[in-house]
Amino acid sequence: MKTVIVGGGAGGIGAAGAARAADRSGEVVVYTEFEDAAYSPCGIPYVHGKEIPDFERLFLAGKEAYVEAGIDIHYSTRVTGIDVGRRVVTVEGEGEGEVGWDRLILATGFDYADPGVPGSDLEGLYYVKNIRRAMEWDKVLDQTKVAVVVEASPLGLEMVTALPHRGIETHLIDPHPWALAEAADPDIVGPVEDSWAEMGVKMHFNTALEAFLDDGRGHVRGVRTSGGELPADLVVICTKKVPRNDLAAAAGIQIGSTGGIVVDERMATSVSGVYAAGDCIEVPHGVANIPLQGLSGSHAYAQGKVAGTNAGGGRRSYQPVYVPWGMVAGKWMIGGVAFGETLAAALGIPHVVGVAEGISRARYYPDNKTLRVKLLAEPGSLRLIGAQMVGGEGIKERADFLAMAVKIGATLTDLANLENVYSPPLGALNEPIALAAQNALAGLNRPGD
Ligand SMILES: Cc1cc2nc3c(=O)[nH]c(=O)nc-3n(C[C@H](O)[C@H](O)[C@H](O)COP(=O)(O)OP(=O)(O)OC[C@H]3O[C@@H](n4cnc5c(N)ncnc54)[C@H](O)[C@@H]3O)c2cc1C
Repeated sequence: MKTVIVGGGAGGIGAAGAARAADRSGEVVVYTEFEDAAYSPCGIPYVHGKEIPDFERLFLAGKEAYVEAGIDIHYSTRVTGIDVGRRVVTVEGEGEGEVGWDRLILATGFDYADPGVPGSDLEGLYYVKNIRRAMEWDKVLDQTKVAVVVEASPLGLEMVTALPHRGIETHLIDPHPWALAEAADPDIVGPVEDSWAEMGVKMHFNTALEAFLDDGRGHVRGVRTSGGELPADLVVICTKKVPRNDLAAAAGIQIGSTGGIVVDERMATSVSGVYAAGDCIEVPHGVANIPLQGLSGSHAYAQGKVAGTNAGGGRRSYQPVYVPWGMVAGKWMIGGVAFGETLAAALGIPHVVGVAEGISRARYYPDNKTLRVKLLAEPGSLRLIGAQMVGGEGIKERADFLAMAVKIGATLTDLANLENVYSPPLGALNEPIALAAQNALAGLNRPGD
């Protein structure tokens, strides 16, 4: 059986490995527009910020590893059409022409949303994605004095943190009142914004981008915003991720309300024999049961594994998501799971809240960091429906744990009574999650729950 995969990102590479494992005698062919596959784009902002010394270590495997694994990757090759009736794709580049398939997996990923303002064809606008382009842009950063980052998305937060490390005067513009406003609450990002201010970042919130300005030679010289003009040698576009669904839509494959390809739990699309995975699809939210699109590399990889296994004749399912997230921003780590207060309120989801400030290690142990934990629960049942955190360390582990707690229906009472590790270098006597749950119960006059 021949499985053709469109996309060499986390979704496509996860699918290729799984398809190969599920069908050892089958053929697995991957097409990617890029010169490389299987590198971690997630590391690019940290090379720009000089925390990671070079781009080479972002590659997960050399090209020969895929050849040896029996995965036939065609680089710099574009799929321009899909005929689901005849089961062929049309390919431009290496191996040009029509290529047949028995199973097709779409892992075409995302594009950054078009800022939709004049000047978007100017030089000096950086969309962070392809590693070869990132290597070229990294040299540009050496010459850059002033940069504007457009939108405080997760990538925006990373780039705003990275650029000052290069001595670049960094401006952030965002139409919302605070950073990462669609995911994080203001009390969670407040310390991050304070630390950016200490790093010299100029923040322009409630500010809309109106145009990229031409220096007269086709290069950007700045941006016009609703708050006035800002000069810039470089503009980093960090708008939200939109699914690349054009191929699927043209082939008549069902597209959902978010623009993502609709799949079932086996990652099968509306067309028999066609699967999809990664940022080009939508999947249901475990709490709200609404479709979500544009999650993370770890989601894309896991979805690719499910799609590849099923395409190869195996059987695996993907479950609804609870979206644990976490990142370094400024001098802090922030993170959470499912809903924060702002999002829950915006969606009209009733909730009660418990907040606590705690510490990451024993009080007397060096380098002990503060941690703020906020828990959201359903009134009445007290089932956990979300969490938000900011602290100096330990955010990732808590976000993963809390995602599982939401998934299995843990309540504030369960969390108020959780058993925790107390070891001076690893954790404090009082776990901040338990403190937040205890505070919530005390606020509800249900401390005995
Ligand atoms: C700068 C950056 C930082 C990130 N940081 C994180 C992080 O910290 N944590 C995290 O979990 N995730 C992170 N991500 C991952 C990211 O947000 C996505 O979730 C992930 O890249 C999605 O993988 P994907 O395979 O679905 O799509 P993509 O990575 O978008 O890959 C799409 C692939 O499809 C190919 N393609 C598309 N159309 C065609 C076509 N017609 N023909 C041929 N090839 C085609 C492209 O060449 C590419 O290989 C980061 C991404 C970037 C760019």
